[in-house]
Amino acid sequence: MLVVAIVYGPVSSWRLGRSLGVDPICQRGKICSFDCIYCSLGPTTAKSVERRIFVTEDQVARALRRAIKRVNADVVTFSGTGEPTLAQNLGALIETAREISGLPVAVLTNSSLKSRKDVREDLVKADVVKGKLDVFNDQLLRMINRPHQSLSFQKIVEGLKKFRAGFRGKFQLEVMFVPENMGFSREIAEIVRSVGPDEVQINTPLRPSPTRPLTPQELERVQKDFEGMNLRSVYLAAKPRVGMTVGKGKMRRLKRSD
Ligand code: SF4
Repeated sequence: MLVVAIVYGPVSSWRLGRSLGVDPICQRGKICSFDCIYCSLGPTTAKSVERRIFVTEDQVARALRRAIKRVNADVVTFSGTGEPTLAQNLGALIETAREISGLPVAVLTNSSLKSRKDVREDLVKADVVKGKLDVFNDQLLRMINRPHQSLSFQKIVEGLKKFRAGFRGKFQLEVMFVPENMGFSREIAEIVRSVGPDEVQINTPLRPSPTRPLTPQELERVQKDFEGMNLRSVYLAAKPRVGMTVGKGKMRRLKRSD
């Protein structure tokens, strides 16, 4: 049952500008293939790798038509109460969002399902895809991202590389640094280099989170291992001003009203 707003924002995003959010999952809890220790949404209520339809193209079209008349945005971004690639109709939703808004479309994903052809076929329809890779082996994956039991580090990296090879849009890869993985920045940087994203985003949880963020000095230290790559760092990136917003309750729930 749909219990929360589909469209929210625009959010002032350090990676995308004025980002109008679309939640293709729309649950009161969180449905995700991961249960990251730093997740600002709280514990995953349903850990799943099963794709299904949560919201229809019609519902997204109606919500976006209403929102787009009221706000100024640079991009429409799929992100919300869980992992967007769990939406089986994500490809159709991306096309609907572009048609209604006339804006580029981005998807924020945890990268866990990119080994699946149907997921890659949906994601290539986006203009920007932001993936995630916080670890360099299975042990750290289980400690930090606490994935669904069917997922492995090798499968995730293979999926990232296959996606990279077939995607013509802008591919950003985020590394979220917390105290648990900051000592492995060199190993993580090597894997990131082998994937070859267009941009690497060095992040640490600045929204309310169960885990402490790294300090600017700590983040600067880990960032040195990524030298030579096209980098953007959360402490240094500019955030745009946004005016009128919609879906304020949803923004509070997602901790994106900052
Ligand atoms: S992948 Fe994102 S939504 Fe899922 S648990 Fe991790 S931080 Fe939360």
